[in-house]
Amino acid sequence: MIRQRVWGVVFVEAGLLTVSGALAAALAVRLAEHGVDIAAIVAVICCTLSTGLSLAAQFDQGMRTTLYVCPVKSCAVAVRIRGAGPHELGRIRALATDHRQHGAVR
Ligand SMILES: [Zn+2]
Repeated sequence: MIRQRVWGVVFVEAGLLTVSGALAAALAVRLAEHGVDIAAIVAVICCTLSTGLSLAAQFDQGMRTTLYVCPVKSCAVAVRIRGAGPHELGRIRALATDHRQHGAVR
């Protein structure tokens, strides 16, 4: 289950990087056809690739983060956790979803 999720994340990240690479290459070709200076082309390629990397990193962080929210509507307790094992996730979920543990919080 967890391994499938990790491979799904890797697959989407690879897709994002591939799309940004293809976009950078297409932009470079178009700019070269119009006689744009090589420095400007390199700058566009770097910006496009770094945007792809940033999107992939954001996606990775989002997919590896779990959010637990207290089921009581008036309670503001919410816990966001990343990089924890199943035991720690269970412990944090129990704390976040048991309103008796934080009933005084509004
Ligand atoms: Zn609560």
